[in-house]
Amino acid sequence: MHFALSLHPGVEAELYPWPDARAGRDRHDRSMNKTQVVTVRGLRKAYGNRVVVDGLDLDVPAGEIVGLIGANGAGKTTTVECIQGLRKPDAGILRVLGYDPVTQAEELRPLIGSQLQHSALPDRLRVGEAVDLFGTSRACHGGELLARFGLAERRRSAFGSLSGGERQRLFLVLALLNRPRLVILDELTQGLDPAARRNVWAAVRQLHEEGTTVLLVTHEMDEAEALCGQVIAMRAGRVLDAGAPADLVDRHAGTATIRFSMPDAPALLDQVRRLDGVREVERAGARVTVRGTRPVIAHVGAALVRWGPVPADLTVHVPSLEDALLNLVGGPR
Ligand code: ATP
Repeated sequence: MHFALSLHPGVEAELYPWPDARAGRDRHDRSMNKTQVVTVRGLRKAYGNRVVVDGLDLDVPAGEIVGLIGANGAGKTTTVECIQGLRKPDAGILRVLGYDPVTQAEELRPLIGSQLQHSALPDRLRVGEAVDLFGTSRACHGGELLARFGLAERRRSAFGSLSGGERQRLFLVLALLNRPRLVILDELTQGLDPAARRNVWAAVRQLHEEGTTVLLVTHEMDEAEALCGQVIAMRAGRVLDAGAPADLVDRHAGTATIRFSMPDAPALLDQVRRLDGVREVERAGARVTVRGTRPVIAHVGAALVRWGPVPADLTVHVPSLEDALLNLVGGPR
């Protein structure tokens, strides 16, 4: 049997403290410090003979919002399902809040709040009943959470009558209801209107300020950039790169693009070519495209101001996490 511990000496030492089976939760809580809430080493999962998670390592530090990003079918949902003890890995070590999700799912479940990609409730269940049903002795005030997510008026509505966005928000309420230590959100804002999306982001930021650890699966790169301290980019069951969103952008999408029109003036174009950081200058008719490092934006801007009226059609494309991910997943396998 493949046993990943032997492949990763020293891992156990950095893991979240393994709780004594007899120890109460309070003792467990006190032992919590700035350490890893989730540690995964060498995770492997196959469906039939198809390997969809292939030797994956992942860390989620306490109090951080960590984003899992990547192409469709990269294995993100499978990974978070293994972390929650909903799927049994074929190999690897997982420690979540000090527990092994394979053998200690019962102990772990009350500490995790999750909003899963394909969550569903019975159509006739009312919003208020769902809150009562899912609340445990650790539950916070369900009414306050419903109000925070704009569902206070829908308390008596049946689940089946809610819009897609209202359902998403209800799942978020249920995920947060029992004051979880770790919140797992899979495609959190899918189907939400822009205002609801911003409300949900504000709620996630509030969770972060309160010290809750969040693992977020998302296809929305603006969401990952807005919320996550760290992102993990996956393709075909493996981690391609991980780090702060800005670092991934620097590593994989360092090119800024500036476009503007100017009269045919070869001398000026030569000056553009000589500006700091410029890698490429193209001209198509009156339209000029300049590519280079991010500081090029400032240098070209300053030059345009010096040369006269700033071209009315000036546009700037600042590299984003989306560019970085596209370059990463489109890169060599
Ligand atoms: P997406 O971004 O599209 O939600 P993902 O990164 O979350 O994808 P997974 O849902 O983990 O990826 O799926 C990884 C691969 O495993 C996919 O090719 C999927 O079709 C397959 N898969 C997922 N669940 C099962 C299952 N229960 N049985 C068989 N194959 C599965």
